[in-house]
Amino acid sequence: VNTAAQEQLGRYYPVLDHGFVALIDVMGGDEAVEQAARVSYGTGTRKTSETRGLLRYLMRHRHTTPYEMVELKFHMAMPIFVARQWIRHRTASVNEYSGRYSLMPNLFYMPEPDDIGKQNAANRQGRVEAVAPEVANTFRAQLEHQRHDAVNTYKWAVAEDVARELARIDLPLSTYTQWYWKIDLHNLLHFLGLRCDSHAQYEIRAFADVMAALTHVVAPLAFEAWYDYAFLSCRFSRQEMWVLRNLVYRIHDETQRGLIAAREAMIGEAQMVEDFSLNKREVDEFLSRFDRFDEELPDPDADERFPLPTHFEAPEYFAQKWA
Ligand SMILES: Cc1cc2nc3c(=O)[nH]c(=O)nc-3n(C[C@H](O)[C@H](O)[C@H](O)COP(=O)(O)OP(=O)(O)OC[C@H]3O[C@@H](n4cnc5c(N)ncnc54)[C@H](O)[C@@H]3O)c2cc1C
Repeated sequence: VNTAAQEQLGRYYPVLDHGFVALIDVMGGDEAVEQAARVSYGTGTRKTSETRGLLRYLMRHRHTTPYEMVELKFHMAMPIFVARQWIRHRTASVNEYSGRYSLMPNLFYMPEPDDIGKQNAANRQGRVEAVAPEVANTFRAQLEHQRHDAVNTYKWAVAEDVARELARIDLPLSTYTQWYWKIDLHNLLHFLGLRCDSHAQYEIRAFADVMAALTHVVAPLAFEAWYDYAFLSCRFSRQEMWVLRNLVYRIHDETQRGLIAAREAMIGEAQMVEDFSLNKREVDEFLSRFDRFDEELPDPDADERFPLPTHFEAPEYFAQKWA
């Protein structure tokens, strides 16, 4: 039992103006990931440093299924426009508040003036610095006005016995909904990777950040491994790897782009360990990623690397063989 995680159960953390995130139940933690990975051994005698090393190894090599052994169940309330982005994550089990069955709450998200940003011209899906205060205030007043009308229509329709499933159809996307959401740790970390990222909309990020903090409590070593190897890491293209490799090594006697007569590390392995907190194994694996860029010279283009076979048969050939 992870006492710290148990203490979090049932704590409702407020998010935005009317939303919340609460961890309702948890199955497993770091040990459950390790237990699954070491399926043939007991876990009782392992040291924390060994658990940490194993979890980092699994994350580094994208050996993900042991991370699926941990499950987290949340109860959360969010505006419908946030829920719409959220529901695109298909690997969770969700049960949402029913506007057909229950009355919709008279709760709407109102952005704070400072959070009402201008359209971002570079990233078309984002926003930048706040609009002028008078624009923010007028925007808020107009939202208020529209909601007032929408709520009046809703209340009137319900009072006239119009079915709730119809009465609600013009309520705004800012209306709050709530759901239970259960997911395994692997898929939760994938969700957090996308939704804690600075490219995610601020309003969903506010929820994801609280969920990240709770996930950290549930499985601190797994979370740290994800933070290092997934969240704050990134992929490099073939061309970018060349640039990096040339930064890491001083190349002597280079005829073609990578033909090596001798190479000398610009940054020593000991320094990587001391200054950048990598362990010996991590240093070896890091450097080994550049080996490929010395062997296959020059890099084959994709059609050279994966040429179509020249020989093929008609379907009847195999039909006859199988018959
Ligand atoms: C910043 C941002 C902007 C976005 N903008 C848009 C937008 O403009 N329009 C839009 O429609 N969406 C948009 N999305 C949603 C995005 O395209 C994904 O639908 C969403 O992030 C869910 O990601 P996912 O499929 O990886 O996650 P999940 O559904 O949780 O799936 C997790 C993983 O499971 C696997 N998987 C799940 N289902 C399948 C499947 N059917 N086939 C194959 N593999 C599967 C994939 O590996 C996937 O990565 C945006 C998301 C972000 C973060």
